[in-house]
Amino acid sequence: MANELLSLIIPVYYEEEVLMESYRRMDAAMQSTGHPYEIIYVNDGSRDGTMKLLRQLAKEHPDTVRVYSFSRNFGHQLAVTCGMDHAKGDALIIIDVDLQDPPELIPKMVEMWKEGADVVYGKRLKRKGETIFKKLTAKLYYRLLSSMSAYPIPLDTGDFRLLDRKVADVFLKMREQARFLRGMSAWMGFEAVPLEYVRDERAAGKTKYTLKKMLKLACDGIFNFSSKPLELPFAIGVLLGVLGTLGVIAMIVLTAIYGAKCPQWLWAVAGGVLLHAVTFCCMGVHGMYLGRMYDELKDRPLYIVAETLNAGDN
Ligand code: UDP
Ligand code: MG
Repeated sequence: MANELLSLIIPVYYEEEVLMESYRRMDAAMQSTGHPYEIIYVNDGSRDGTMKLLRQLAKEHPDTVRVYSFSRNFGHQLAVTCGMDHAKGDALIIIDVDLQDPPELIPKMVEMWKEGADVVYGKRLKRKGETIFKKLTAKLYYRLLSSMSAYPIPLDTGDFRLLDRKVADVFLKMREQARFLRGMSAWMGFEAVPLEYVRDERAAGKTKYTLKKMLKLACDGIFNFSSKPLELPFAIGVLLGVLGTLGVIAMIVLTAIYGAKCPQWLWAVAGGVLLHAVTFCCMGVHGMYLGRMYDELKDRPLYIVAETLNAGDN
């Protein structure tokens, strides 16, 4: 039996319908890896029978099941963060409880990790049983995000992934409030390898990601990983400046060379466009300072060393 410890982290929110079936499949998958393991459930403020079932699981499997229960709903991303904070494993695996990400892929992820990957992320080839609206918005969103982000965030990936301990340790240093784990994982770099899979339907129950929660996550993804929205007014200002200047030049040429008489209001419009250009540029400059302040506030590590050779400073 291999001796590296694996930690499986499972956020849970109103999932009494799926929890026991989910446990059976997760536990079987963990056993088949041949590694010692712990399963960490984080109850994200469920008020149904979820906690009762988790108590029962913890009692029946004191060596493998650990439970953390939030005082209220803090959201999926923070539930996963809590699990990571308390995981003791050499590799951490994050998975949803609803069996949309098949636990049977875990042994394969572990194998890829042992072959040298620091991060193994699930890449969705297809999504079964989700509405056209969700599939379409997800597809568009991932593309918009990757075009705006300064770091390549892989398309069509969720939080189903395995992280090596050294990656998880860097994660734990990033204490920003608004968290977008898959973006943070991409930001950190390391040797990240995709594992392609077909995303199943939910085994039971309904999605807990309401439209509001999805929008918040989508905004966190864009605003945490791109300062472009803040810099946009500057680009608009420059564009207006160029247009206004070209307009004024055209009117001067028409008046001076061809003796045309441009109406007063046209001069007023050109003046207005140039004034707006100045305003937008000023807003853009503010945005650039704000973006930099935001980066400082996040207080992320300045750099991440993945490996050292003969460094002599342990
Ligand atoms: N979840 C959570 N807190 C929330 C919403 C969801 O911990 O506020 C958990 C949920 O129990 C599940 C995972 O996050 O394990 C993903 O949620 P869900 O399956 O509802 O999202 P979807 O797959 O529909 O995007
Ligand atoms: Mg789901």
